[in-house]
Amino acid sequence: MDYEKLYAQLGQLPLCQYEVIDTDELVFTERVRYVCETECPMYNKSWACPPAVGTVEECKSRCLSYPKALMITTVTEVRDIADLAETLATRAPHEEITRQVSELLRQQTADVMVLSTEACAHCEHCAWPDAPCRHPERMFPCVESHGILATDIAEKHGIEFFGGNIVTWFSLLFFREK
Ligand code: SF4
Repeated sequence: MDYEKLYAQLGQLPLCQYEVIDTDELVFTERVRYVCETECPMYNKSWACPPAVGTVEECKSRCLSYPKALMITTVTEVRDIADLAETLATRAPHEEITRQVSELLRQQTADVMVLSTEACAHCEHCAWPDAPCRHPERMFPCVESHGILATDIAEKHGIEFFGGNIVTWFSLLFFREK
């Protein structure tokens, strides 16, 4: 991996933070999956969410098969963070930047796995569970769907998820160097 080239390219994008981390620092926990099951309306409704993504153990083993991950964040100021529609509208630009970053990584290695935000919203009605995902190359499961404790990463890397009217979105792009 030519990190100098990658960082130069990332520097051209409207990212707040970007950092390559070792995947063995990630914390996986069933507690995160419990929140998916009990609190998320998307549970069992998408290929990008549990249970379709597999058990936490399977997700962990898939993530840890990649030694490194690129962590990226974007921040957007909204008028009123309590306005859910306005806050969620900032997600699509983050997903697009995540896709662009995945393309940059793919210029250097074909083996990239992306976890991003919330449930996949590409199709009006997800094909789960009746048919395969229609756009697997564009479908990014969310970080939490894999049982990853995002608050632990935030503490270790100084990410503030919400403060004032600032919305922070966060993605992890796992990759294997050639
Ligand atoms: S791309 Fe479509 S079928 Fe695939 S996970 Fe997203 S919404 Fe579901």
